[in-house]
Amino acid sequence: MTTIIREIREQFNPANPAECIGQVELLTVDETKAIVASAHQAYREWKNKSSVARGEILRVLADLLEEEIDLVAETASREMGKTKNEMIGEVKRGASILRYYAQEGMRATGEILPSANEDKILYTKRVPLGVIAAITPWNFPVAIPLWKIAPALVYGNTVVWKPSIEAALTGKLLGELFERAGFPKHVVNVVQGRGLNVGQVLLEAPEVKAITFTGSNGVGQSILNTAGSTNKKIQLELGGKNAAIILADADLKSAAKLTIEGAMKQTGQRCTATSRVYIEQTIYDEVLALLIEETKKIEVGVTMGPVVSRGQYENILAAIEKAKSEGAELIFGGEPAFNETQGYYIQPTIFKNVTHEMAIAREEVFGPVLAVVKVKDYEEAIQLSNDSEFGLSASIYTKNIQKAFDFIKRSEVGLVQVNDETGGAEPQAPFGGVKNSSTGAREQGQAAKEFFTTMKTVTINT
Ligand code: NAD
Repeated sequence: MTTIIREIREQFNPANPAECIGQVELLTVDETKAIVASAHQAYREWKNKSSVARGEILRVLADLLEEEIDLVAETASREMGKTKNEMIGEVKRGASILRYYAQEGMRATGEILPSANEDKILYTKRVPLGVIAAITPWNFPVAIPLWKIAPALVYGNTVVWKPSIEAALTGKLLGELFERAGFPKHVVNVVQGRGLNVGQVLLEAPEVKAITFTGSNGVGQSILNTAGSTNKKIQLELGGKNAAIILADADLKSAAKLTIEGAMKQTGQRCTATSRVYIEQTIYDEVLALLIEETKKIEVGVTMGPVVSRGQYENILAAIEKAKSEGAELIFGGEPAFNETQGYYIQPTIFKNVTHEMAIAREEVFGPVLAVVKVKDYEEAIQLSNDSEFGLSASIYTKNIQKAFDFIKRSEVGLVQVNDETGGAEPQAPFGGVKNSSTGAREQGQAAKEFFTTMKTVTINT
């Protein structure tokens, strides 16, 4: 008999770092390899099940998730710090993603094409790829995994999912719900572990036909280095440095409110968070006052949670110090909200007089920090907002329809908003960015079909 010695990881509450909220066992490399092999076995039957039946299990999962909304939201909130209300919103979003893809099982998956030969029938068929590796971050511990796993499953693939170690208990709980929903054994598998061993196995396993990843640019690059030269399909959703532009003709109160929501919601730990705002000079002072007024409404510890971990807390405070040293002018926050033993809370923070060269205008912070830049006019704003290595989401606040359409045309991002905060999209709409923010097919909606299936062209000579 072989004894397997697994690493045990204890999870602590970022709102109260002394409180251990549970443990997870991390898998060994060999165990992970065995699970990938089982997912490969399970694929043989799963791919032959009708997509309607596959969708039906997703619908059951959506019902279960709604039944257990309190438990899931509470677990994730205590594990990664998002407020319970924010988590409830995310779980609801997860359920609607599942319902969308449950329905997808009932839609046609191919196309009938006219043939030049009247005796021939010509059509295309969507077919699954095989085992999909899904590797996810901690910041949306329910919605991001589900928007990868649900389409992968409904189109007939099996999945090996590696949640972030920072959201391992939430991952474990979702794994239990997958089981209760009735997926056959090894159709959907949760592998807990560190990126460098468990994650690496998924990148290298020959049975894995596609890798869908959301996370940092550094890890995204190492995935490309490891798997980029194989024939695995790769989809990477990475970082952002999302810009908002506020023009003089906008509804300034609403623009300020949405900019602060976009920047501070979920403690700024969203890839689509507003992290820089360009304001026309004639309204600069007025908007600054409105931004401060909106930020004062945030109650740290009540409406704003802690950041996820000590590491993240230190990174954000270091970015704030760097902004100060580069000459940005702090006009709100800039400090830990409480003593560190009372949780990893950081005050919502705003810098004004930021210039384009400063790190705070260019690098992702992934925390509650907003950089404000004064611009001469719209033309300067669009140029500066586009001059970024990232291209995920961008907003414009204006009542001028020509400028709004010009922005839609010229903004170098995947998700454009007019008079709304930077952010993602509803489950039926494609999600993703350009430049260093994304690689590969879009996520969500019908776009997911591109990634999780391949095409078969059929000709029948009648
Ligand atoms: P991360 O890159 O540190 O980790 C993401 C996942 O990758 C985790 O599960 C981790 O264990 C795994 N991993 C780490 N090293 C690996 C390796 N060598 N091989 C395989 N897997 C490995 O990201 P994070 O800190 O969890 O999340 C924050 C980042 O995610 C931010 O940069 C943010 O912008 C980005 N993000 C992007 C989107 C988007 O849709 N564009 C959404 C949310 C978060």
